Amino acid sequence: MENTVLIVEDNEINRALLMTILEDTYQVLEAENGQEALEILRNPKNSVSAVITDLIMPEMDGYQFLEVYSSSPEFANIPVIVSTSQSDSESEVKCLEYGAWDFIKKPYNAQIIRFRVKNVIERSELYALRKLRYQEQFDTLTGIYIQNMFINRTKKMLKENPDKDFMILHFDIYQFQVYNSVFGRREGDKLLCHIADMLRKMAECGTCMTYCRIEADAFCICAPAADNEMIQNIMDWFQKDFQVYQRDYNILANMGVYYVEDNTVSIPVMIDHAKLASKECKGNYIQNYHIYTEEIGKSIQEAQSIVSKMERAMKEEQFVLYLQPKYGLAKYKLRGAEVLIRWLTPEGMVSPGKFIPVFEKNGLIMKLDYYVWEQSCKLIRNWLDRGIKPFPISVNISRVSMYNPRIVEEIHELTVKYDVPPELFQLELTESAYTDNPESIKKAMQQLQEYGFKILMDDFGSGYSSLNVLKDISVDILKMDMKFMAAPGSENQRRSESIVANVIRLAKDLDLPVIAEGVEEKEQVEFLSSVGCEYVQGYYFARPMPVAEYEKLAFT
Ligand code: C2E
Ligand code: CA
Ligand code: CA
Repeated sequence: MENTVLIVEDNEINRALLMTILEDTYQVLEAENGQEALEILRNPKNSVSAVITDLIMPEMDGYQFLEVYSSSPEFANIPVIVSTSQSDSESEVKCLEYGAWDFIKKPYNAQIIRFRVKNVIERSELYALRKLRYQEQFDTLTGIYIQNMFINRTKKMLKENPDKDFMILHFDIYQFQVYNSVFGRREGDKLLCHIADMLRKMAECGTCMTYCRIEADAFCICAPAADNEMIQNIMDWFQKDFQVYQRDYNILANMGVYYVEDNTVSIPVMIDHAKLASKECKGNYIQNYHIYTEEIGKSIQEAQSIVSKMERAMKEEQFVLYLQPKYGLAKYKLRGAEVLIRWLTPEGMVSPGKFIPVFEKNGLIMKLDYYVWEQSCKLIRNWLDRGIKPFPISVNISRVSMYNPRIVEEIHELTVKYDVPPELFQLELTESAYTDNPESIKKAMQQLQEYGFKILMDDFGSGYSSLNVLKDISVDILKMDMKFMAAPGSENQRRSESIVANVIRLAKDLDLPVIAEGVEEKEQVEFLSSVGCEYVQGYYFARPMPVAEYEKLAFT
């Protein structure tokens, strides 16, 4: 294929001369100044192999052009030859500083020009080739192996040492993107290079070790198998080093360990296993490494199979609403219900405790929440159409759904669409959702309340900030989960009871009704009435039930 040379020169005669010299061998493009040249270069249709530029031109002169050129990585491999009539060394040095590859002098000597152009093109091709070779093996940022090379080398090492036991370590920085946004990308890159240096040091200490950068902040190591104590030592070594490296930030490393036991497992799968194990750390400072076990693999598989089944389940209406009644404690009268989702698969029922956390992780929960809200609105509409005067029902809002910027409109639009009075449609929001992003939630809650929805604070008392939260936001009803209290008869029961009594008193001061949920025992009921709790929900009174069953209980 013919190479393309770009001539940047304002003087028409010079351009024509250069054209005549080069057009037999190359395809030639022309620009009258630096600006035009950049436009031609940036056009992906023009694949330019070399540039010849004049220095003195209108609009954008040769120096300005070189300056832009040398700071644009996409031009890094396109050689530039400066054509000059000046022969002072000062301007030559300046050009070289800006990345010029060579010079040609005016008046033009055709032979010299042809040679110089040919030479720079060949040189740039050689660089490109070398760079490619390098990039096929090494990570350009840190200079250590990339994953493919790691896999090759590790395969070889395992083969050559059949009697040795090995382990694969997957190492990364907890919330590296936070570090990046605090200190900037450049510092982030520096930290990665520092980690690569530490791996080099580690490799110098022992024999038989391979390592690489897998991607972003993730590194992999294959080394002789070590016991828990040794692994902890490695992690301590990293943590101590990080404390010195960056005093203003707690850099936390997470590591997953996979022991190579079965040679039929491929290295990429081993890496995956180690990575899964490292996910178990979840930013824990004390347990900052985890060892891969079959259970970890299984639970991940389970999660994946749940996700893959979700779409179909939605279409086939495998998700059904159950209702758990709530009672007034004074007269044991039914006063409403909470909507709880159930997943009825052909293989049996999956409990929300299993699939809700999975859907929260991958965001599908937003879809599911919306589905539940819409079904609930339809249900209320159906009751009203049948002339029933229903009690309010409450739906759950996942903390993830609160990130949806349209949540207020969506809920409002649903109740308008089904003509449901907002006082019949209550919203349960967990306390932890509020602590996630207080400002936006506060606003959303206020707007919902302005539309007439009542907001229940779910799982009150389960987090650390319960009382603080109450100070900041206005909720309409507190739900206090008895599950978070000490079991009856246990050592801490008295303390628990005193907390419950005080929460109820405090709530009364704030005019907030309290629903105690998870009430299972008679003694709990007695205690709750003795301290003036108004509402209860729990197995002692009724379990979550299908809609038809609830209708019988509530409306007849
Ligand atoms: P939650 O909102 O705190 O719901 C109360 C849970 O406690 C329900 O579990 C309920 O069946 C259970 N429960 C009620 N009374 C008792 C009792 O006396 N003893 C015991 N041990 N448990 C009792 P479920 O239905 O398994 O739901 C678990 C969690 O899953 C819910 O906790 C909620 O966070 C979530 N969830 C359920 N349905 C939905 C939904 O439609 N949307 C969203 N976003 N989350 C839901
Ligand atoms: Ca709830
Ligand atoms: Ca709850």
